[in-house]
Amino acid sequence: MTAEILVHELFKKYPNGIEALKGISLEIQKGQFFTLLGPNGAGKSTLVKVMTTLINKDSGDFCIAGINPEINQSKIQKIIGVASQDNEIDPTEKVENLLIFQGRLFGLTKPAAVKRTNELIQLFELEKERNKKAGVLSGGNKRRLHCALALVHRPQILFLDEPTVGMDPVARANFWEVITQLNCKEKVTVFLTTQYLDEADKHAFEMALIVDGKIQYSGTIANFKKMVNPIGELSLDDSYLQFVKALSDQELTNN
Ligand code: ADP
Repeated sequence: MTAEILVHELFKKYPNGIEALKGISLEIQKGQFFTLLGPNGAGKSTLVKVMTTLINKDSGDFCIAGINPEINQSKIQKIIGVASQDNEIDPTEKVENLLIFQGRLFGLTKPAAVKRTNELIQLFELEKERNKKAGVLSGGNKRRLHCALALVHRPQILFLDEPTVGMDPVARANFWEVITQLNCKEKVTVFLTTQYLDEADKHAFEMALIVDGKIQYSGTIANFKKMVNPIGELSLDDSYLQFVKALSDQELTNN
């Protein structure tokens, strides 16, 4: 198997002194559906930002599809797609135009960019929003637009940072259908951060749990559940709650 994402001993300290990443190591195989879980402030977004070259690390190494992002950042940008609420979108521009511009930015010809835009509008059910300005979209539709924009150039690795916040149940189901198809049929590697553990449980296979900048578990979701409760069958939600509670109890005892 080929490792698509390799992270070794990553450290990141913000200028305000907060150590957001304290030696993170991960290995994610090609075609994997991986989810990064952890409480607010654990370091998830920081890790995604470092891996997608939005911010710099302090020390450690990482490699995406065999490429060192610090040496070849432009090549990495062509391989990855990033859907995050931090993505800046011009609120005065129409949905359709934003997708076409994105296609042109990635080197598509005008007709190819228009074709891809139509495909993505259909895929993410944004037909009614096509001619609306991005600034007036609902939260859920904005998320769908973020994802559509991230997919314009057909990336082989897709980073989804809390993608379904604000989506209604039907939009959510449709969204996951699109993502699972990409993962199963086109072998796109998915790196998901979410607080909706039922979604992670249903769609992801491997996970890492990060708390206070350190990985506390890394492996399959099935093994995580077994580790937390060897005899019963707990949901990922309940397993997570038990695990995190045990960690904080242990910390209280140690202090
Ligand atoms: P998560 O995504 O798991 O909620 P973050 O990666 O956003 O966690 O944050 C990790 C830690 O780094 C938190 O303590 C947060 O306050 C801090 N942090 C995040 N972004 C910044 C920043 N730009 N400047 C300073 N501290 C930050």
